[in-house]
Amino acid sequence: MEENPEKKEEDLKFPIEFKQCPCCGSTKRIAQTIIDEQIKKGLAGKDTIGASNVTNAVIWDQRKILLSVPILTCFEDICLMCGTKYCIKAVKGQGQAQMGKPGKGGFQLPPNIPYGRG
Ligand SMILES: [Zn+2]
Repeated sequence: MEENPEKKEEDLKFPIEFKQCPCCGSTKRIAQTIIDEQIKKGLAGKDTIGASNVTNAVIWDQRKILLSVPILTCFEDICLMCGTKYCIKAVKGQGQAQMGKPGKGGFQLPPNIPYGRG
């Protein structure tokens, strides 16, 4: 019996990381290259993620009123070799509802992860 290479939902363990370009396999990325120079100069912490884009998706059933909802933070960067933009790291956090601010803008995002935008 062959194993299914796709991840099953119950197997999801965060953070999920993609360490190479899905198109060309390169591990070199544009924003990471920039942040690496800053790390070398001592201008950024060694754990800083070089990301050209960071998005926060609030994931919940919008018909429900909840005080706490899952938030998926996705760090993206651009392949230095072929220009492909891809997810390098996905982190699951928990957002807290803020009074008087319904909808997506009404959730307090989880504490920031250090990252540098390219
Ligand atoms: Zn590539």
